[in-house]
Amino acid sequence: MVLDDLGSSLRGTLDSLRGKSRIDEEDVEKVVKEIQRSLLQADVDVSLVMELSDSIKERSLEEEPPGGTTARDHVLRIVYEELVDLVGESTDLPLEEQTIMLAGLQGSGKTTTAAKMAWWFSKKGLRPAVIQTDTFRPGAYEQAKQMCERAEVDFYGDPDEDDPVTIARDGLEATADADVRIVDTAGRHALEADLIDEIEEIESVVQPDRSLLVLDAAIGQGAKDQAQQFEDSVGVSGVVITKLDGTAKGGGALTAVNETDSTIAFLGSGETVQDIERFEPSGFISRLLGMGDLKQLTERVERAMEETGEEEEDWDPEDMLKGEFTLKDMQRQMSAMSNMGPLDQVMDMIPGMGGGLMDQLPDDAMDVTQDRMRNFEVVMDSMTDEELENPRAIGASQIHRIATGSGQGEETVRELLEQHKMMARTMKQFQGMGDGDMQRMMQK
Ligand code: GDP
Repeated sequence: MVLDDLGSSLRGTLDSLRGKSRIDEEDVEKVVKEIQRSLLQADVDVSLVMELSDSIKERSLEEEPPGGTTARDHVLRIVYEELVDLVGESTDLPLEEQTIMLAGLQGSGKTTTAAKMAWWFSKKGLRPAVIQTDTFRPGAYEQAKQMCERAEVDFYGDPDEDDPVTIARDGLEATADADVRIVDTAGRHALEADLIDEIEEIESVVQPDRSLLVLDAAIGQGAKDQAQQFEDSVGVSGVVITKLDGTAKGGGALTAVNETDSTIAFLGSGETVQDIERFEPSGFISRLLGMGDLKQLTERVERAMEETGEEEEDWDPEDMLKGEFTLKDMQRQMSAMSNMGPLDQVMDMIPGMGGGLMDQLPDDAMDVTQDRMRNFEVVMDSMTDEELENPRAIGASQIHRIATGSGQGEETVRELLEQHKMMARTMKQFQGMGDGDMQRMMQK
């Protein structure tokens, strides 16, 4: 994940401030050095890093911490605010009828992003359609078509037509029923005159409400020139940063956004249609700093529940963060999670679970692979309600019965109970630390 290192190194430095009520210049210097190191390593532009660190330094020393605030929380809040400021607002994206054009270099992730965005809009209750005008890259048509099928959204393309402008024009007509039309365009390996000409032509036919520039997170400093050129030719309303799962960098893209006065619309973090999230500055930075983002977790859980059709009126995802964590909670959570993505990603979104706390846990505490999850689900199906509510009362004879009933070995049943115990312990630790830190940080 982008800037992964920032959260953990910063937490270490901030922890050395624990117990201090006042902060001195030496402390601030230490914190700022860590931030500089992480940001530069992640490819954020040097002058931007300097500007940010000066501002953190100045504010930390000059601003009076509100009564009762520790030195650590004081600095953390300032770092948080400055980073939120650095990444900027989220691109305005009303949920209404509109046409969105995607631009970017070849391989940046445009086609994937088009299908992902269509999926995202469909989950918001709108009817999206993807129009594929990339006639330059062989395979773009088939790839887009397949991804749209997977996302269960409308798709228009024409493998026999080689004029992208004709496809765009026909595509708009063919998708007249859609609420949101996402027009994917061709890219090249580098910004070349013919690419710019082509995209300008498509733009004049499509007349998009917004044009989003798709940038690979690993792009580095070249991002700025690209952003500038696309801005000059078609105007960039916002940026989508892709492949955040594959790099600890991403600073180049962040810099480009900052320097071209643009904003971020979406983040892509994987190859499947669900691996997209709307950019939320405060949530993004909270997560980076290991403060989690409960709002997003709740959204994901709700969406997954809708998909499995297993929504239960009396179950609130936040409940699992309060009170006793039973096997029943784990069962619900697992069925929801099979639609949500890898457990560690989900866990990263829970306040207090990101980074710091995860590091203190035994390595395998969260290591529930998809296969193990499936076995666990089968095992839980063979348990009685009473056993699910009170797993501690499960003894050897019940383990034998459950194993036989589920067709799984006794070992799997024991593993499940062990896993549950570890997760329950994690939930307990979280209950002790999450809220306070988070709330204090959000208060200004
Ligand atoms: P395009 O040429 O701009 O249309 O790029 P594609 O959409 O074909 O993406 C290029 C490659 O990057 C493909 O192999 C995608 O599967 C992959 N890709 C796109 N977005 C992501 C992402 O967020 N994470 C990862 N890991 N791979 C991605």
